Amino acid sequence: MHGCIFCKIGKGEIPSTKLYEDELVLAFLDISPINYGHLLVIPKEHHTSASTIPEATAGRMFTVSARLGVALKRALNADGYNFHLADGTCAGQVVMHAHLHVIPRHADDGFHWNWRQKKYDSDDQRDKIAAKIIERLKL
Ligand code: AMP
Ligand code: ZN
Repeated sequence: MHGCIFCKIGKGEIPSTKLYEDELVLAFLDISPINYGHLLVIPKEHHTSASTIPEATAGRMFTVSARLGVALKRALNADGYNFHLADGTCAGQVVMHAHLHVIPRHADDGFHWNWRQKKYDSDDQRDKIAAKIIERLKL
């Protein structure tokens, strides 16, 4: 898409530190890492939302991300890794070309996800929410 920074990275019009590339996906280092080695996996085709990425490409993104996660553990002595995907501005998406973050984690890295964990008011409230989601699910 015209003006999209990640499309430009995909075409080599903007420099990046590439880690992996095939016909469907590209992986490169995030320019402002949470931990060193933090990387992004993107579809080569422009999609703003992860929800429109075709299954073959989305599957490749996941497989490549997990393999890169293992490479992060082996190469950087990481203890584990996180996947993170922000879909929508309110979810923290800044670059409007879908991308999966793979973040190497070390036991003592001092980084904490700021989870807030609510409780459902009742079983009925929980079941109604589940029913609404299921009703609108289109695969
Ligand atoms: P998000 O908030 O999920 O949209 O994250 C966008 C990510 O893209 C951020 O972590 C940025 O550091 C990263 N980023 C932005 N521009 C570049 C770039 N030119 N090369 C590598 N990473 C980038
Ligand atoms: Zn794009």
